[in-house]
Amino acid sequence: MNTIFIVEDEPKLAQVLEKYVRAAGYDAMVFDRGDVIIDAAREHSPDLILLDIMLPNKDGIEVCKELRAFSEVPIIMVTAKVEEIDRLIGLELGADDYICKPFSPREVVARVKAILKRTTRTEPNALQDISSSDLVLDSANFQASLNGIELDLTPIEFKILAALVGPPSAVLNRDSLMEHMYSDHRAVSDRTVDSHIANLRKKLKVVNPDAEFIQPVYGVGYRYSEPS
Ligand code: CA
Repeated sequence: MNTIFIVEDEPKLAQVLEKYVRAAGYDAMVFDRGDVIIDAAREHSPDLILLDIMLPNKDGIEVCKELRAFSEVPIIMVTAKVEEIDRLIGLELGADDYICKPFSPREVVARVKAILKRTTRTEPNALQDISSSDLVLDSANFQASLNGIELDLTPIEFKILAALVGPPSAVLNRDSLMEHMYSDHRAVSDRTVDSHIANLRKKLKVVNPDAEFIQPVYGVGYRYSEPS
């Protein structure tokens, strides 16, 4: 049975979520503070985490960052403000999706279901090591370097980059990028793909400000090409 962490300090809301999650056939563990989540995640290996942002002791942003240091568990961040979402994406937390309060619990569970239904874990090492003149990708360690300088990429950013670099000058649309981002084929919004791409381009620019390695192809998706 899949285990869902519900991290929510409003007791009523947590109760409702727990009820819906259990009714959908999942196991639920409820937490009302942020500082216990890392240990709990290590101990119970949840299949998905619903993570409120405003939490006592440690906020959801910090919890998300710490989780991402060792885990690719799907994380859905929950925020009280829709305007917060762009800022959160900009923070490069590595969260998979964002939900805005107030939400309908039914909608939350639908999102959880869609993600978990497609969970078929595959080996990340299926990616090939790729080395072009400037860029070196080490798939075993999810590490990439450009011009000998290591890029600090999240696992998802690494997968996007590997997908774009893979077939020479191919244009990948957002759907196929999503396929590469997640081994479990979970559904994410186009906006999530775009924000990962934006972060990736920013990181490449730090090393080589003059080059545009990832180019948007209008109406299609993205293409990788190295400056000649
Ligand atoms: Ca809260």
